[in-house]
Amino acid sequence: MVPLRGMRLPLLLLLLNTTFGSAYHWFNWQYEVGCQSDTFIAPADEAEVVRFLKEEFPEQSHIKVVGNGHGFGNLTTCINKGATNRTSHIVSLANLKKLQINKDMTVTVGAGWDVYDLVNELKNHNLSFDYLGAMRVQNIVGAISTGTHGTGQEITNMATQVVALRVVDARGNLKSINEYSNPEELKAFRVNLGALGLITEVTLKVQPTHFLKKTTKVLNATTDYNQLYTEIADLYKEHDRMTVWGPHFNWDAEAEDWIIEPTFFASWWEQTNYTGTGNCTLNYCANGCGDCIKDYICYDETSDAVSAPPQGICSSQFYAEIEHFFPMEHFVDAAVNYTKFQQAQTPRMKGFENQKMIFQLRALKGDDSYMSPANTYNLDSDSSGVFGILEIDWIQSVNHWDTLYNNQEFAYEFQEEFGALYNARSHWNKMSPNDPKHTLSVFPKLPQFLQIQERQDPNCQFVNEFLVNQLGIDRCRAALNL
Ligand SMILES: Cc1cc2nc3c(=O)[nH]c(=O)nc-3n(C[C@H](O)[C@H](O)[C@H](O)COP(=O)(O)OP(=O)(O)OC[C@H]3O[C@@H](n4cnc5c(N)ncnc54)[C@H](O)[C@@H]3O)c2cc1C
Repeated sequence: MVPLRGMRLPLLLLLLNTTFGSAYHWFNWQYEVGCQSDTFIAPADEAEVVRFLKEEFPEQSHIKVVGNGHGFGNLTTCINKGATNRTSHIVSLANLKKLQINKDMTVTVGAGWDVYDLVNELKNHNLSFDYLGAMRVQNIVGAISTGTHGTGQEITNMATQVVALRVVDARGNLKSINEYSNPEELKAFRVNLGALGLITEVTLKVQPTHFLKKTTKVLNATTDYNQLYTEIADLYKEHDRMTVWGPHFNWDAEAEDWIIEPTFFASWWEQTNYTGTGNCTLNYCANGCGDCIKDYICYDETSDAVSAPPQGICSSQFYAEIEHFFPMEHFVDAAVNYTKFQQAQTPRMKGFENQKMIFQLRALKGDDSYMSPANTYNLDSDSSGVFGILEIDWIQSVNHWDTLYNNQEFAYEFQEEFGALYNARSHWNKMSPNDPKHTLSVFPKLPQFLQIQERQDPNCQFVNEFLVNQLGIDRCRAALNL
């Protein structure tokens, strides 16, 4: 990770040509992860993508394709200029804005679409996505490539909506992959981590727009975590599509301890016949935003009911976040032990600028994308195939690098502590620690993924340190000077 001190700028993604040395800087959304390349390339169309990659293949240049940088880790960083003797390029496909509405309830879109704009455009055609993340701030391919998801025991991640895509490999060869001609390969490309080439367009399932009813209920907190999470697990038996925002903790500076807030809340979504005005987006309640701990019912079109637009992101301070997926059968045990493990770290948090700690719980139906954190390949035959998802956000009172590094340090430790115990998998773009042995155990299709990766990228042009270390791509170590 390359820390860039003092950056306080209002955009999600910033690409700056610095005045010294003509380096291009890429930053993630909260500007604490970044890298510097030699060039920034934004091809005008797919043909230019092909031409660019054909030219760069003999040069073996480093190429990192970026979306909107809405992540917490080093997945999307380019190779720093000068780190090797190869040229380093950052590529954005923002200009690829094709939009084709197909007759079979699918849409084909260029890689340049942001989820927010695409959702708005689809509404003009009375179409919508059923599955979105809690916020629609990503680039569409960036979201798919990491397995971005919402919540629901009958709902899978966004990548499962992909029925076809077009990808350009390192040699500049363009390939179409779809569920009819190459269904097995599509499973590798859905959650691709940016490692398999530049995806120029995707075809996704859509549905007619319809309303959902969202019910939000205040829940009582207790430090009897067994009781707390058993009650939540019982709620999951009643509500298929539910997010629990909590428990919430506040940092007590005098006691130097986390104090649990007495209440928190859960929201669940159901089908409805409602046809009136949509009113869920009036209160985003995403990211701990707004006046959220209260009972209310609202109705909105699916995308507005389940996910917040960029305006719904209210925390502008640094925060660290983990998100782990584990089989739903472990839900209570895992949630109790994650919470206790976090509390055991409290002495390490004294003297820093912490403010809030928010747990978020969701559920997700498993799927068969090779690198999906909710892949079902190693589950027992009697498993439900549903995953519980636990997220912890450590939110700071001010932007403070040492606090961030301190929190990130122990954020990484959760996987070591619980990965094997609960068959837990990290979200690829949220503080996922380097552990190729664990990666192989929870992603049994990793060898097949890496075979395709080598075919698509024989000279290690698309990989970075994160991918090499996480996936154990040892053939690329020398190319990156690792
Ligand atoms: C505040 C916040 C809230 C979030 N909420 C959720 C949530 O509710 N659920 C969830 O699952 N996640 C959530 N995330 C994580 C987020 O959805 C993922 O990190 C997602 O990958 C971000 O997309 P992006 O375009 O911004 O990413 P980037 O980091 O820019 O890109 C992600 C990956 O996609 C690759 N990529 C991008 N474009 C292409 C292309 N054309 N071809 C090939 N590869 C490409 C990149 O190389 C990289 O590997 C959240 C993140 C933040 C910061």
